[in-house]
Parts: sequence; structure tokens; C-alpha cells
Amino acid sequence: MFFQKKIGVLGGGQLGAMLIRHAVDFGLHISVLDADKAAPCANYSSGFQLGDTLSYDDVMKFGEGLDIITIEKEAVNTKALRALQEKGVKVYPAPETVETIQDKLTQKRFLEAHNIPVVPAIEIANREELKQHKNKLPACLKMRRDGYDGKGVMILKTVDDIANAFDSPSILEDLVQIKHEISVIVSRNEAGEVKCYDPILMEFDKVKLLLDYQISPCDIGADITNQAITIATKIAEALQLKGILAVEMFVTAENKVLVNELAPRPHNSGHHTIEGCNTSQYEQLLRVITGMPLGDTSSTAHTIMINIIEPAKDKKGNTEDVLKAIGRIPGVHIHWYGKSEGRPGRKMGHINITAKTHEEAVTLANKTRNTFNSLYEKS
Ligand code: ADP
Repeated sequence: MFFQKKIGVLGGGQLGAMLIRHAVDFGLHISVLDADKAAPCANYSSGFQLGDTLSYDDVMKFGEGLDIITIEKEAVNTKALRALQEKGVKVYPAPETVETIQDKLTQKRFLEAHNIPVVPAIEIANREELKQHKNKLPACLKMRRDGYDGKGVMILKTVDDIANAFDSPSILEDLVQIKHEISVIVSRNEAGEVKCYDPILMEFDKVKLLLDYQISPCDIGADITNQAITIATKIAEALQLKGILAVEMFVTAENKVLVNELAPRPHNSGHHTIEGCNTSQYEQLLRVITGMPLGDTSSTAHTIMINIIEPAKDKKGNTEDVLKAIGRIPGVHIHWYGKSEGRPGRKMGHINITAKTHEEAVTLANKTRNTFNSLYEKS
């Protein structure tokens, strides 16, 4: 019976904490490995082990007593996951899936080999080699490994930008004229069942280049919606996925859908599923790892997600005041991550706003955003 299974998660951030929250509903106990003793999961997990998720020894030590292991970030030691799998620990997603995705080059080549539309890119060994490709600029340079939240990604406009480029193995992608950025969370279990959530639309603040609103369901037309869902399903099948996968995509000015990147774990673009869908992405992952059937992914509300970003010190208002003010707005669901300290620019939480119609959700989201701007992030 799965209730007795010992389950471990590599990574103790907010995604892990939300997984734990849903594990409680299933009567499950989750242990966590993270290098930060103040990680959001630290006080919620059934067993917290301090250690590096990229260290073979730390992952082995953590995993050896477990029945099931999963991840909440890609920066994990897959050699250890393979070794644990050989010892009988069930690993979700498969270590090979994580390996393919960890490296942006192998990820892209995998997608190309399966005829999935991607942004064309070439391999770059270092800054020196970049100089030989100046004819490709403007282009988008991405570190092959360990980039997240836009770190590890830079637009090179002219040859002058090369001096400040990463000096590490990277890929150089064609610059896309992006009309929309969308994401589909797809889940697949060991029985081969596949389910997708509705695509979500990410709207960026054009000035700050920060994610502004994440909208679900979104009005991108039936054709783009179908393309996005077909692509996500095809990728889940190609990977023989056991788990959940976020498929971030660009819709180009010519209405083409291109895959930007994959994340084989709970993802920011699935935050809205907690209050906006019949089954949250966290519950879905738990269903996969415990061998339950997949849950219904359909939307139950129009949802807008807003990230709560730590403001600059001199602009920061009183957190309690702002949360109280926002808590008065109907449809607002606060997710505060309980991080021990806020560095400017750090994600401190998010808010899901649910409503019966898209228009109502937008009105409430604007009200929430304005409350934020006046109380939390004063200009
Ligand atoms: P991360 O893994 O850090 O989230 P992404 O690959 O998603 O990095 O890139 C971050 C952002 O950079 C994207 O959301 C998009 O706005 C922009 N971007 C990425 N690739 C391209 C590209 N090829 N052309 C134009 N803009 C891009």
C-alpha cells in the first residue's frame, strides 16, 4: 500500500513545499534533501537531510532508505539516481529523462530527433568560439547547464556584446520574434496514460522583463491550443515520461509553435492548478509516483497567477500590511513561501486569483497588482 512508502524529494524549495502540502491529503510522508537548512521545505518535511542534490554521495545517502524518489529541480546527480534505481528505489522521472533535459543541447537534439519544432541552435564551446559566429547575431545565448529564471540566458545584439558573454559550454539560438510565451504541463504515468492541462499564457512586463501575469485558460485560439497540446503529448511519449513535465513554448509572429524548454517536475507555470484545476500539478505527480490513475486536469476557474517578488530595500513596504490588504480581495489565494530572507528580486510567494470569467480575473488581478505597487513595492 502506497501510504507506507518512504518518499524522498531532491530539492527543498517552494515547489517541494507545495508537493508536501498535497502529500498530506494523500496521507503521505515526504523526506527532503537540500543544502540550505532554512529551505522552505525544512520545517514541513518528515525528514530533512542537509546535503547537495548534485553530490553523488549526498544523494546516495539520502536515497538508500527510500522506496520512491522524485525531484523538484533539475540540478540533481543522475548517476546516483541510476545507482539507486538499480538498488530497487523507484525514481520519477527516469534518470535518463533528467539527463536529457539537464543539458540544453541534448534536450534540443532529442526534440529535433523526434520532429518536435524547436528554435534552431548551434553548439558553442566557449567565448572564443562565439567570435567565429558573429554573422549569427543578434541571437540568444544560453548556458547548456544550470540556468534558471533567465540566469544563464542572454541576448547578444552585436559583436560588442560578446565580451560580456558566458565563457562556458552554451547554445546559440536564433532570435525568435515572440508573439506569445505559453506553457503546457503534461503528465504521464507508468500505465502510459497521458493528460495535459490547458495551455497558460505568460505575460511579461516589457520594462522590467519580469513575468507579470500568468493566465489560464488563455485565448490563443483553437489551432495554437491544439498544436501546443499535441506537441506536449508527443514529447511525453517520446521521453516515455513517468511524472510531470512543463513544456514552455513560443508562439511566433507567424503563428508557429516552437518548444523553448522543458522541465520534468512541478513548475511555476503550473502554480494556477492548485485552485484553478480539478487536480493540481502536485497531486498529479503524487498520483504518478504512487501508481494512482491520473487526475482530471480540466480547469475549474479562470485563474491569473502573480509572482510576489522581493522589492529593493528602500522601496519595500510592510509585508503584513500588504498581505492583509490583498487578502480582502475576493478570489485571491495567497501562497507565501516562508523563505528565511528576502533578497531583492527573489520570489517570495505567488498569488492565484480565481474568477468565473476572464474579465473578472483581470479586474481582480489589476486590483491586486495595484495594491502591491502601492504598499509593497513603492516607487
Ligand atoms: P530560463 O531557463 O532561465 O527560464 P529561457 O530559455 O526560458 O530561460 O529564456 C528566458 C527568456 O528569454 C524567455 O522567457 C524569453 O522571453 C527569452 N528568450 C529565450 N530564448 C529566446 C530566443 N531564442 N529568442 C528570443 N527570446 C528568447
